[in-house]
This record gives sequence, structure tokens and C-alpha cells, in this order.
Amino acid sequence: MKFLIHTYGCQMNVRDSEAVEALLIAAGHEKAAEENDAEVVIINSCTVRQKAEEKAVGKAGNMIAAGKIVGLMGCAVKRMGKDTFKRLPKLHFAVAPRMFGTIPKILAEKKFPCLELGDDGVVPTGMDAHPDITRNGTFAAVQSYVTVLLGCDNRCSYCIVPDVRGHEYSRPAKEVIAEVECLAKRGVKEVCLLGQSVLRYGIRNKAWDDEKGEAFPRLLRELSKIEGLERIRFTSAHPKGCTGELVDVYKTCPKVCRHLHLPVQSGSDRVLKEMGRHYTRAEYLAAIKKLRDFDPEFAITTDVIVGYPGETAQDFEETRTLMEEAGFDNAFVFKYSPRPGTRSAALEDDVTKEEKERRDQVLLADQEARGQKRNDALIGTTREVMVEGPSKRNKSRLSGRDSGNRIVVWEDDGTAKIGDIVKILISEAHPQILIGEIVK
Ligand code: SAH
Ligand code: SF4
Repeated sequence: MKFLIHTYGCQMNVRDSEAVEALLIAAGHEKAAEENDAEVVIINSCTVRQKAEEKAVGKAGNMIAAGKIVGLMGCAVKRMGKDTFKRLPKLHFAVAPRMFGTIPKILAEKKFPCLELGDDGVVPTGMDAHPDITRNGTFAAVQSYVTVLLGCDNRCSYCIVPDVRGHEYSRPAKEVIAEVECLAKRGVKEVCLLGQSVLRYGIRNKAWDDEKGEAFPRLLRELSKIEGLERIRFTSAHPKGCTGELVDVYKTCPKVCRHLHLPVQSGSDRVLKEMGRHYTRAEYLAAIKKLRDFDPEFAITTDVIVGYPGETAQDFEETRTLMEEAGFDNAFVFKYSPRPGTRSAALEDDVTKEEKERRDQVLLADQEARGQKRNDALIGTTREVMVEGPSKRNKSRLSGRDSGNRIVVWEDDGTAKIGDIVKILISEAHPQILIGEIVK
């Protein structure tokens, strides 16, 4: 059958969709060129904020109305459970995040409606398959996501992720290394290791047969040895995981990129405590300092929530000043959205919509100015950039990223090809983009 997958949400969903696509192609199905052409449409959903869930459910509704065989997969399914079919009575199948490996069988049997929820501890089906099976034959990218840690056990007060993605589970290091080796043989130059709190790799369950040092830094060191692989990234991090061993990896393994996505959520100790983040503002700043002390250009990006229940003007001000002190290179700001069943959902969502919007705009404007300033300081420097392809806005230019994940754009002179690492001399800076010329 001809199928298409629409993906909402985070990188982990992108990777899951990629695996499903490959599994379906292996089962004899064909990827449709466009929606009109598809008999089967699968929507990979997000539920981290209510709006995200509504988008995915809305899209599924449209596809049902268009007469497709429709499947919903991902986080919203796990959150809604049996109610998925109340929201979407004519939906054909619904599959929770860790059950995506069942989709080929569902399409073979066609026993609709079908619901696969699994249980929280289930080891995912599909993810453990050989990388040649979970990436389709035409896979030709130079960058790839690799899921290393599933689920989350942190239980931050506002977050639905632990409910929908289940308990933390670290894939065996052997399996991850084999997957990355295989990717490198297929031409992948950069991997991004994924986990909700990826520095907890190997903590809840053993990742290595023998225990030698911290599991995640050790994984980074092992992956660094893989020939052909040029860059290693990972996301998301938590300050608790910023250990001396991790810092040592940054110092000694040049393939490990000098960028950390370190969601802070709030700059107010009172709010951080209520959120159950397990660090203070000072501890957070100390973690960043360790990284910037040895490399002042080390890039730090973050996530922030505005309008958490009870967030006062003073709390918000503390978030503002923290962001300035931290000198973030980029920040994603989210307006608090209560998620059913989470601890904070029991609290009154008392910051008005207008005030959340205002706080959002203030932080974005601050970040815009900060990004400009930080990027201005890079004018005249030479960045090592991996070529990703033509720039979206101007096809005569090429685009790529430096080690700090900064987007760099330059005039295509025909000498660089996708996957090459080139030197770009920066001549112009914008809040989220650097422009330069290729250095020969
Ligand atoms: N596991 C990642 C975060 C995954 S969710 C981590 O802990 O680093 C991505 C981001 O969505 C979070 O960092 C948070 O800023 C935001 N988020 C999560 N739940 C939210 C909610 N209920 N309302 C608004 N934003 C939320
Ligand atoms: Fe959610 Fe916190 Fe887990 Fe991140 S660490 S997924 S914010 S519970």
C-alpha cells in the first residue's frame, strides 16, 4: 500500500517515524509522493502541550474525512488511551510510542479498529532492529538521529512525557555502537544521540556489560573512535549530568560538538523547586561555567516555561536575569499548558493567557538582542561548518552548522559538497544566523 507519515513534536518522533517508514518499506509498502497519492496516512503525534495534541488529532480527523486508512501513533495516543477512539471514532489504528514496531503487522492484518498501548516498562518493538532495517534503503543523509535512552523517570511537575513515553530505558551500548558504525559506513558524518534526559544513560539499567566509569561519557568516547564519523551531538541534558567526566570528554574528543541543549525552565529557585527540577539557579549557572571556562565559545541553548502556576512578576524577573547571566545562544520559550494527570495540573493555572503571551514576547525580544550580541562577537572568526545543503531562503547559498550548532550561510562557489567540513570566515551576524565566505 502507498503510505505517508506526518510527524509532529520532537526529534524522537522524527526518528520513530523514520523507523516506521523503513519497517513499512521492508514489509513491501511504498512511500507515497504526496498526500493525494497515499492510501494510508499515519500521524505521529505530540502531547507535550495541549495545542500540539490538538494539531495531530485535527490532522487525523481531516485524513479520515479524506477517506484514507488512518493511524495515529506517538505520545497523544498513550495519553488518551481508549479515549483515542472517542475523539476519533473512525480512526483505524492507534499505537503508543514504544509500540511502533507493531504497525507493519497491523497493516497486514487489517483488523480495524486496533489499539496498541503496551505497558510503561515495555522495551520498544522495532527500535532494537538492525539499523539497516529501521532506515530505508534510500537513506542517504549525512546526519542521523540515534535514540539511546527511551522514556523518562524525572517526573517534573508539569510534564506528561514520563506518562506517555514510559520508564527510562538505556539501549545497550553494544547496540548503539553497532548502529552508529553501520550509519558511518553508509556515509553518515554526524549523529545526534537522543534521550529525554540523555545524561542519565546507563543509570536506571546497565548499558555496559562491565562498569567502567560513567556510562554516557564512555559511550561518547567509544563513538568517537568510529572511522568516518566526524561529529557527535546529543540532546537533552540536565545540569546533574554535567560531571567532570563529561567535561573531560569535551576537552579530549574533538568529534563531540561544543553545544549543549540544557533546558533551564525557570530562573526562580522557588519555581524550580515546585517543578521538581532538582537544581537551583546557582547550580545551573555553575554547570554552564564549567563548560565555558575551557571554551568561551561553548554554545548553550535552553527551554523556558513562562506562566507556570503561581509564577509571580518577581519569579519571571529572575528567569529574565538568569537568561542574561547564562548568555544563552538560543532559547525556546513555551507558555505553560496544564497536562492532565501531571502534578501541576492540580494547581490553578492562574497566569492569564495575555500575561503568558507578554512574558513570552519579553523573553523572545531579550533573546533576539542577546543572540545578535553573541553572534556579533563571532564576526572575523573562522567556523568549521559541515555542509548541510542549499540555504532555505537563498538557493545560491549553502547552509550548515558549526560545532556550537550555529547556522552558518555562505555563497556556493561549487567547491563544497554535502557532508564536507569547510572553513567559513564570518563577515555578518544576525540573532540566529551567521554569514560568511568560504576559506580556501
Ligand atoms: N526531556 C526534555 C524536555 C522534553 S519536553 C528535557 O527535560 O530537557 C520539551 C520542552 O517542552 C520542555 O523542556 C519544556 O520547556 C516544555 N514543556 C514540557 N511540558 C510543558 C507544559 N506542560 N507546558 C509548557 N511547556 C512544557
Ligand atoms: Fe519531562 Fe522533566 Fe522528563 Fe524532560 S526531564 S521529559 S521535562 S519529566
